[in-house]
Amino acid sequence: MTDRVDVAILGAGISGLTAAFWLKEKGYSVVCLEASGRPGGSITTWAGEGFRFELGPNTVLNNALEIDRLCEASGILGERINAAPAAKRRFIVKGGRLVALPGGPVGFLTTPLFSLGAKLRLMKEPFIGRALEEETIARFVRRRLGEELLQYAVGPFVSGVYAGDPERLSVRHATAKIYALEEKHGSLIRGAIAKRKGPAPAGGLFSFPAGLGFLPETLAASLKDAYRSETTALAVERAGAGFVIRARFERDGAQDISAKAVVCALPARATGAVLAPLGGPFTQRIASLPYADVALVCMGFRRDRVAHPLDGFGFLAPEAEHRHVLGCLFTSSLFPARAPEGFVALSAFVGGAMHGDRVAAPEAEILHRTVEDIRPLLGITGDPALSRIVAWRPAIPQYIVGHGARKEDASAFESANPGAFISGNLLYGVSVGDCIKNATAVAGRVGEYLEGPGAGSR
Ligand SMILES: Cc1cc2nc3c(=O)[nH]c(=O)nc-3n(C[C@H](O)[C@H](O)[C@H](O)COP(=O)(O)OP(=O)(O)OC[C@H]3O[C@@H](n4cnc5c(N)ncnc54)[C@H](O)[C@@H]3O)c2cc1C
Repeated sequence: MTDRVDVAILGAGISGLTAAFWLKEKGYSVVCLEASGRPGGSITTWAGEGFRFELGPNTVLNNALEIDRLCEASGILGERINAAPAAKRRFIVKGGRLVALPGGPVGFLTTPLFSLGAKLRLMKEPFIGRALEEETIARFVRRRLGEELLQYAVGPFVSGVYAGDPERLSVRHATAKIYALEEKHGSLIRGAIAKRKGPAPAGGLFSFPAGLGFLPETLAASLKDAYRSETTALAVERAGAGFVIRARFERDGAQDISAKAVVCALPARATGAVLAPLGGPFTQRIASLPYADVALVCMGFRRDRVAHPLDGFGFLAPEAEHRHVLGCLFTSSLFPARAPEGFVALSAFVGGAMHGDRVAAPEAEILHRTVEDIRPLLGITGDPALSRIVAWRPAIPQYIVGHGARKEDASAFESANPGAFISGNLLYGVSVGDCIKNATAVAGRVGEYLEGPGAGSR
């Protein structure tokens, strides 16, 4: 039997679900294929013994209108909860202690996080010219802000978003907003001042009482039968003006789906493999997109076993501090009901682009090393009352120098294969918000394609 739909969406992470949701809203017949038994991909919430932990992303930064629109159209805008105001406070490990990141210019002048030399060095920044070639984040920040700001401000930030290596990531592609300040204003400081004067985006971090998993579950439920779990896309082939998708249903065996258009929202290796029959450089090269591996270590402690007030978002550990963890979120300080009465919840990140070997270690070792690493920083006595570890291998794509060539490959692929579209976190941003924004745009382009010249013959 062959199903016939307007659009087949491959992958039910937030990217695939967003694209499928909007295409269905526009009245197209869709099918969204997901290999695993649950929707959401990296977004997954676990609850048990009174705790509620995110096993992937913990928060969504509300920095794009597309996020509000998706939540509103799916009926869950009012259910969002904002992170506690204390979440604005972030700590950096320096000299084996937690130091709060300064919140503004006055705080910057008085913080012990940076030396006087590093602070004075900033005065030169507005007079430094543009780079002539694509730079790594490390080179860009060293040139404009100096080594200390790289080590104790930007480096940890890059680690928090990409679990990445600033010596390899492209400033242009991985931190496009920072790069744009130099491009547009010739200086990060001048750019930041100009941005303060302009209209501010909504901002703020949010989740849902049931956790972030509620978002993909809601989107998948709205697709009804069009959401097919335990269904692996194997290959996409051309068939006349459209495509045939070869898939394997865990319960029913092989099945073909005939579609006028296809949206691929899969991780890099699966993207390369599934699109291989369509040929071209993109399908050959995308599998080599580097990823960072990350282990998420969720821990519940009795409140009286943790001396630190946990009055903030969490901490990040600069590479120069040689810690085992990349950072740790004070999970139960962010949203209510994440730990039972008398307990706190912490989520530490281990591994990343520079320490992937740590993610491959046995779980007991990961937990032991994590607890011993954060123990002196947070004043912890005793062992966690509960722990849960997830090793994401691979976890997060790394937009290293030369990433622009992958974007060009993808555009060339779409031009050579009208009706085939690339979505997901491979090219244009890894945050949940970026994925929603990108997938919304892809859904728009699919609609234009289906309504465009030649639509009747498809
Ligand atoms: C540990 C971790 C922490 C993070 N923290 C944050 C955070 O705090 N905030 C934030 O904004 N972002 C965060 N991110 C990044 C963000 O979660 C991801 O970039 C985003 O969710 C990716 O969504 P996606 O739909 O593009 O891909 P994915 O979520 O990877 O979804 C792809 C889907 O495709 C499915 N699939 C694979 N192969 C096939 C196949 N052959 N056929 C059918 N289906 C297939 C997979 O099972 C999966 O469900 C984090 C990521 C990780 C891993």
